[in-house]
This record gives sequence, structure tokens and C-alpha cells, in this order.
Amino acid sequence: MIDLRSDTVTKPTDAMREAMAAAPVGDDVWGDDPTVNRLEDLAADITGMAASLFVPSGTMSNLLAIMSHCQRGEEYIVGQDAHTYKYEGGGAAVLGSVQPQPLEVEKDGTIPLAKIRAAIKPDDFHFAITKLLCLENTIGGKVLPMDYIHEAGALAKEHHLKFHLDGARVFNAAVKLGCDVQDITRQFDSVSVCLSKGLGAPVGSVLCGDREFIKTARRWRKMLGGGMRQAGIIAAGGIYALEHNIDRLAEDHVNARRLAEGLAAIDALDVDMAGVQTNMVFFRPKDGRHQDLADYLAGKDMLVDAAKAIRLVTHMQVTADDIDAFIGAVNAYYS
Ligand SMILES: *Cc1c(COP(=O)(O)O)cnc(C)c1O
Repeated sequence: MIDLRSDTVTKPTDAMREAMAAAPVGDDVWGDDPTVNRLEDLAADITGMAASLFVPSGTMSNLLAIMSHCQRGEEYIVGQDAHTYKYEGGGAAVLGSVQPQPLEVEKDGTIPLAKIRAAIKPDDFHFAITKLLCLENTIGGKVLPMDYIHEAGALAKEHHLKFHLDGARVFNAAVKLGCDVQDITRQFDSVSVCLSKGLGAPVGSVLCGDREFIKTARRWRKMLGGGMRQAGIIAAGGIYALEHNIDRLAEDHVNARRLAEGLAAIDALDVDMAGVQTNMVFFRPKDGRHQDLADYLAGKDMLVDAAKAIRLVTHMQVTADDIDAFIGAVNAYYS
């Protein structure tokens, strides 16, 4: 089976499972789980933030960030296609009474600063109070330019907005740029990082920020049902992921490039080469028969996400040989 639907499909390796089995645990709601505490210290350390909180999912992590930065009747500015707006069930509005202000995202993943500036509401009781700016990096596999992050951060500061990063794949961005992840994360007031995607842990995300912010997020986490007991078992997978699986993301990026180049050589396909920056490849069959191709590949035990364009995501359980086999199968379909 070659599963290119997402990097969320990664399964824990034997070494990771051993670390999980051996993890000392306690009741984390009481603050007693030494492994969860170690993960939270490690994540804060790596991201250069004062504290962090282990949570069951990236969705909860982003929701906690929005609810901790914003009160009822306030709003956050967010990309129209961003996960924190489009793919989290409207949680900020439903559960937080926080209004999203979505804005169109450019092809490179940025929200134009002029549009952000224009969307910040003046102090007038007709309007929700603009409180937070959310970015996402990587976004659709693309890395936000560092200059853009600095400029967006300055704009947020100028308008007294908090600045949150949905950094589900922020390590992919750092590996691609060849920088320390802190060069990215420290620009923000808070950062959410997924452990369960390319980093290969089975469950969990970490939300990072200052101590006061994490204390507030911890309260909301309990209210939302995210207080977990002997969570050290899964936190150990997260520690293993942070200690062993960051640098190897570069292999996923090499494989994605190999995949994109192999597909670009097939006349029947339009491959978005400019978008191939980290571990994702997007392409469209010129005949528009996405699902037919996806079904053919599924018959060969090769899985893709064919929702709009076809999305392929490389990860630790996809090898260079798998990539070649996949390209071979697509070639065979068209010949
Ligand atoms: C996957 C993802 C999330 C949410 O993570 P879950 O653990 O699936 O809830 C948030 N943001 C981005 C950009 C993601 O890719």
C-alpha cells in the first residue's frame, strides 16, 4: 500500500512504540504525568516559547488559541482557505462566540497586508472588536516568506492584535528554509504544532505561548474535554517525534520533488510545480477525470486525495521506490 492521501496516515514505528510502552505516566489533569510534562517542556524549548500544552488534536489547539486570545464578541482575521477558518467546523464561532473575518489568500499562501489593514475594525460599537491575526505555515505545502511574517507581525503589533501561527507543519517550513524553527515561531504570540503528521506520532499537538496564555488555554482545554489522564503513553510518541523525526522531513521534500518531476513529464497532467516546496504535490488531469484516475490507482493499492485537484503528500512511510512505482502506475494509466 502506498498511501499519499496525507502525512496524517503515518503509523508509529517499533522504536516509537517502545518509547510509548516504557513511558512513566501519572494523572496529567493533576499535573502528575512526567512524560507529558517532559513533552511540554521540550516543545516550549524547541519553539523558543515560555510554555506549552499537550492537546489531542491540531483543531483543539487552534481553538484553544483563539479562545484564549479573544473574548466573546471579538474577532480574528484569517485566510479564507486556512485550516483555522475552513476546516475546523466553525469551532471558534460555535464554541468560542468569536467571529472569524476570513480574507482571500494569494497563491503563495499570504494574505495581502493591505487587505488585513482594511479589515481591522475601528473602535465603533457596530463592529466586533478585532483581536487576533492567524497565519498558517506551511499552507498547502507552501512556505510563507520570512519577510512577510515579519511585516504581518509588525502590522499586528501596530494594531494591538495578537498573532497566532497554525504551525501544524511549521517544521516542514523550517527544514525547507534551513533555519531554526524559532526564527519562525518567535515572531508569534502563540504557535500550534502537529505531532501527528509528518513527525509521525500517532496522536496530538502542542500549543506554545507565554505562561499566562498557556494557563488560560489549560482552563479551556479542560472545559472542552481535552484534559487527559495517563496521557504520557501518547506524549512519549510526541517526544520521540521531536527528538528523531524533524531533520528527516528533508527526505519527504526530496521525494515530493521527485514525484512532481515524474508526473510533470506526463503530457496528460498539469502539475503545480511552483507549489512543490515541502511535502505536497498538487496536479490536475487535463481531461478532468480526477476520480477515474484515483479509482484506478486505488485498484493498485495507491491512495490519493482527489477532492479538487489531486493532492499527494509524502511522509516517512513513503520511500523513493514507492514514488517511482506510483509514477509508473500513472504512466501506465495514460498509455
Ligand atoms: C491537520 C491540520 C490541523 C488540525 O489538526 P488535527 O490534528 O487534524 O485536528 C490544523 N491546521 C493545519 C494546517 C493542518 O494541516
